[in-house]
Amino acid sequence: MMTDSKVIVRAEALESLLIEKGLVDPDRIDETITFYNERVGPMNGAQVVARAWQDPEFKARLLDDGTAAIEEFGFSGGQVDKLVIVENTPDTHNVVVCTLCSCYPWAVLGLPPRWYKDPAYRSRVVREPRAVLKEFGTVIPEDTTVQVWDSSAEIRYMVLPLMPASWADQSVDVLASKVSRDSMIGVEVLAD
Ligand code: FE
Repeated sequence: MMTDSKVIVRAEALESLLIEKGLVDPDRIDETITFYNERVGPMNGAQVVARAWQDPEFKARLLDDGTAAIEEFGFSGGQVDKLVIVENTPDTHNVVVCTLCSCYPWAVLGLPPRWYKDPAYRSRVVREPRAVLKEFGTVIPEDTTVQVWDSSAEIRYMVLPLMPASWADQSVDVLASKVSRDSMIGVEVLAD
């Protein structure tokens, strides 16, 4: 693993080189960063989750064909040509990884967190998911199956977390504000 400062130096070197060669416009780089920070991010996935919690018909469509179901939200950001939503239940807890690299559904979750790209997470969550989840502070009951989904360039996964029962009367906007990124990757369980 490269240290943060090495990554930053490398990124800056690449940026300077691309600008110098006239291959990219520095304003475009700033726009892209702003775009992913402010317009594309886990708040998109959170809207989808909140809607699914409140609308059984939408939830059925979402689980049947995630890509088609999220079209009506008009998200941009890509990487969801085939989006598969996996639903947490009292019997099954789902967690998402990309063992090969860092495939991730950008349009609904934004840019992947650093740990998602870490080789340690990628290899260990497959072998010992419960131990890895515990390091995130997430303890899954022994009688709940933990299912790991390996993303690829073709298929991206997002978890539909379980809604805490006490949230049942909340509006869709309030619900969306409570859905964390990590719960949609499956390393966190939502609680009151
Ligand atoms: Fe990947």
